[in-house]
Amino acid sequence: MSLNEVKSKKIDGRLFAQEYLDKVLKPRCETFVDIYKKLPKLSTILVGESPASESYLKLKDKFFAKLCVESEVFRLPEETTEEELLAFIDKQNHDNQIDGILVQVPLPSHINEDTISESIAPSKDVEGLSPGNVHAWAKALPNLVPATALGVLALLKFYKIPIEGKHAVIVGRSMIVGKPVTHLLLKENATVTVCHSRSKPLEEYTKQADILIAAVGRPHLIKKGMIKDGAIVVDVGINFENGKMLGDVDYDDLSETASYISPVPGGSGPATVCMLVSNLLLAFELKHAKKSEEKLNCLRDYYANYDTIGETGFCIE
Ligand code: NAD
Repeated sequence: MSLNEVKSKKIDGRLFAQEYLDKVLKPRCETFVDIYKKLPKLSTILVGESPASESYLKLKDKFFAKLCVESEVFRLPEETTEEELLAFIDKQNHDNQIDGILVQVPLPSHINEDTISESIAPSKDVEGLSPGNVHAWAKALPNLVPATALGVLALLKFYKIPIEGKHAVIVGRSMIVGKPVTHLLLKENATVTVCHSRSKPLEEYTKQADILIAAVGRPHLIKKGMIKDGAIVVDVGINFENGKMLGDVDYDDLSETASYISPVPGGSGPATVCMLVSNLLLAFELKHAKKSEEKLNCLRDYYANYDTIGETGFCIE
């Protein structure tokens, strides 16, 4: 059956997360307990308040609890200076009990996000945004890759959606989503177009997409008439309007036209959390690998694992 004949199948991030938890993460955690007698610990730093970050934290904590992976959240006030935040991160870089550090974005405007991501020790950089990690994913070398981008790819593979030779249009060019998704899809041999706030008219680009990834942060920016029939749509956006969580895509508007479409909530968010845990486990393994050959094996296993999502039993038939 061609994709066009299956109208508007939901890309279910919660289903993916449950499967990934049971079949990949739990067994890996059990092995860690056997070998290292402990599980990794993640430190999450939140500066000021952001509804999107709060919803992500809630989801993350629920998920981490299921795996017994330790996660501590540090809430710093909005007026924290860049120097104070850098000193805080430096302490955690040297804390042997902490295996991964995640600084939630957006940060208050007086703090430079690049300066902060560059200050995180590359070995603890579970968001894959420190310079060495960016260099690696830009060159398609195995290393820590931003979790949201990996989550998008994992969802496509889970639903066995062909990527090679397809035209992927990504709306949003941020370092945390748009750019890493671009590199991951290029690695999968898609042809990629990246749109941003100056891409006008946006629908001229989105209508060309076989696979459309929306990572903007504008509620229901992508509407009826903006995609072609049978397109695959992954909505990364998390927006709040009157207390309601909305994606960048108008799901109801597009669900007649798209062949596959992810909802918000329940789409990309749970997949991101899965990949964050996966990155934390990788950081922990790399820390314990003594020889460079062992490190290389960890990276190979990690990539083999997520590369084969679509080929193993771990996918939707
Ligand atoms: P960002 O603000 O850093 O980047 C937004 C991008 O959208 C920019 O590249 C900008 O040029 C582009 N843009 C803005 N207005 C546009 C328009 N009208 N047309 C086309 N492009 C436009 O945001 P980000 O950190 O990449 O996050 C994007 C969204 O994804 C947010 O809603 C965020 O909350 C969400 N997010 C979700 C997850 C998840 O797990 N699902 C993870 C991270 C971020």
